[in-house]
Amino acid sequence: MQVMVIGLGRFGSSLAEALIERGHEVIVIDKDENLVQRFVGKTDTAVVADATNDTVLRSLGAGEVDVVVVAIGDDVEASVLVCISLMDLGVKKIIAKAEDERHAKILTRLGVNQVVQPERDSARHVADLISYPSFSDWFLVSENHSIVEIKVPKDFVGKRIRDLDLRRRYNVLVIGIRRKEPVFDRKGEITDLKEVFIAPPDPDEELQEGDTFVLLVPSDSLEEVARWKD
Ligand code: ATP
Repeated sequence: MQVMVIGLGRFGSSLAEALIERGHEVIVIDKDENLVQRFVGKTDTAVVADATNDTVLRSLGAGEVDVVVVAIGDDVEASVLVCISLMDLGVKKIIAKAEDERHAKILTRLGVNQVVQPERDSARHVADLISYPSFSDWFLVSENHSIVEIKVPKDFVGKRIRDLDLRRRYNVLVIGIRRKEPVFDRKGEITDLKEVFIAPPDPDEELQEGDTFVLLVPSDSLEEVARWKD
């Protein structure tokens, strides 16, 4: 995918680096030359420019890229101006970072496709993980549903997914199972453990000790699932 990242503060730079690592074609822009310099050699297009200037955005082909991320938080006016220019250029998808609720509201009203508040979102995620210690990971996928990772309880080991009837009992859907499988050498001895992700699992799949469920859980079942005994 071709992604443009405007603003190379902590969030913008980390995002651009993660996108480059994942093999995307990344264009980075910042008005601060020192920040842009860090990307020279990592990506083909690292530009020092004021992104509120729509001629700059047009000449860099912003209208043609798959996603543009506006990672300008502090300067709300600049963030808004850039988003408006991007919309005028017909950008397919705009994701913008907001500094606070007010900024988020303005960006949403403008029609930005996705508004993120990284500090708030990541703080909530950590608070969620603290609140549900039995979940090794979990995140909201809609207002009322979460994806949850939890160790398969001892009581479930040796049973088939079908027999647990989780859908009827808890309204929970098993999306996948993480399992550690042994790696054998030529003598037949175990040399290592390799994680496999079985998704979607067969209803006849028998659960093994050490398995981890990946579940789709409605909000009103979260408390109950969190109490499953290890
Ligand atoms: P973080 O918390 O992720 O570090 P931040 O919200 O504190 O980010 P900001 O000061 O909002 O950071 O700005 C992010 C980056 O955006 C800065 O590096 C800044 O130079 C750049 N920036 C701000 N306005 C513009 C603009 N008009 N054109 C290009 N880059 C800009």
